[in-house]
Amino acid sequence: MKKLIGYLKSSQDPRCPISDLAIKKLEKQGFHVMCESGLGDRIGFKAPHESSRDQILSAASVIFCADPPSATELAKAKDDCMVISFYAPFEPGFDLNSHIDKEKSGLRVFSMDMIPRTTLAQSMDVLSSMASISGYQAVLLAAQKLPRYFPMLMTAAGTIRPAQVLILGAGVAGLQAIATARRLGAKVEAFDVRAAVKEEVQSLGAKFVEVEGSTDDSAAGGYAVEQTEDYKRRQGEAIANSVAKADVVITTAQLRGRRAPRLITDEMLQRMKHGSVVIDMASSSGGNCAGSQDGEEVYRHGVLIIGDSALYLKTLQDASDLLANNIVNYVKIFDNGESLAFDPEDEIQYKSMIYPKAEDK
Ligand code: NAD
Repeated sequence: MKKLIGYLKSSQDPRCPISDLAIKKLEKQGFHVMCESGLGDRIGFKAPHESSRDQILSAASVIFCADPPSATELAKAKDDCMVISFYAPFEPGFDLNSHIDKEKSGLRVFSMDMIPRTTLAQSMDVLSSMASISGYQAVLLAAQKLPRYFPMLMTAAGTIRPAQVLILGAGVAGLQAIATARRLGAKVEAFDVRAAVKEEVQSLGAKFVEVEGSTDDSAAGGYAVEQTEDYKRRQGEAIANSVAKADVVITTAQLRGRRAPRLITDEMLQRMKHGSVVIDMASSSGGNCAGSQDGEEVYRHGVLIIGDSALYLKTLQDASDLLANNIVNYVKIFDNGESLAFDPEDEIQYKSMIYPKAEDK
């Protein structure tokens, strides 16, 4: 397969998936890069050579588009092309058929959100790149909205005590949120069902809220698993006490392909201080906080609740650059020098390929 990679413009996603550095790296590896006109408009990036969408579809051996191209568009593509996008095949109601053209005998479709969360795959893990930016942005947003300082300050007019921040879910986003809140001088507590993160939380200078007896998640590829009713009750009590003390709560807890766990109830909000801020980063999958709405700011019992699952878009330049790097690192694993090939023995490749699967053959 020729090494011709084409980047299509997304109608939904404002990130630019290519950068000067990414083009340089790809060209050094022998790739020819095609970019659709207007691809980087939102960040002021202009690709050296721009092509039309149809030119790219008909010529490229690898097509990247942040929104999955439709089956109709793929009909214009080469018979043996590789398509890379974010299909979220774990979401209920996902319909692969609307994205593939079964007439194409050599078509292979890859979903970057299926890349395993392993150390080896870290350099191509877009979910981690974006989660980390989002964790940082969540803290900046909360600091702006809170009618209080984050750090402790001794002023001539009196002492300001530090803000108390609670982070629920200490995955990639949560850990970055802890580090950012600490840098701003807040006192931080964090909780996660994965007890394994306790040490990481503590090493960032935060207190870990302990709840004993969580269900083992070691076989879940790093993702959290559903917990027992008894554990959920005890977890609720521990969280309620920390929420009541907090000025800011940032929630990041997700269960892939399922509704996000409800961690902050209406009763807990009632116990919070007036003017406190909740940033709910799981708002697009149902939300961790009662009353949160994705993309909205709402007040409930005097608490400002901001639902935003795409906070990385507030750092659009870096989100774009990291995405571009992740794609380059991903495409590299298919490169065997002269051409690109799929290796079924490579865990990252087969776990992220969503078509064809054995049953499609
Ligand atoms: P995620 O976005 O799926 O969830 C965020 C966090 O919420 C997770 O830490 C999860 O345990 C937690 N959570 C879920 N339900 C919860 C509940 N009821 N109460 C409290 N917390 C809850 O997670 P993520 O940040 O995308 O990371 C997923 C996993 O993958 C993590 O273990 C992460 O460390 C791991 N990871 C590893 C690598 C690597 O290279 N080794 C790279 C990326 C991610």
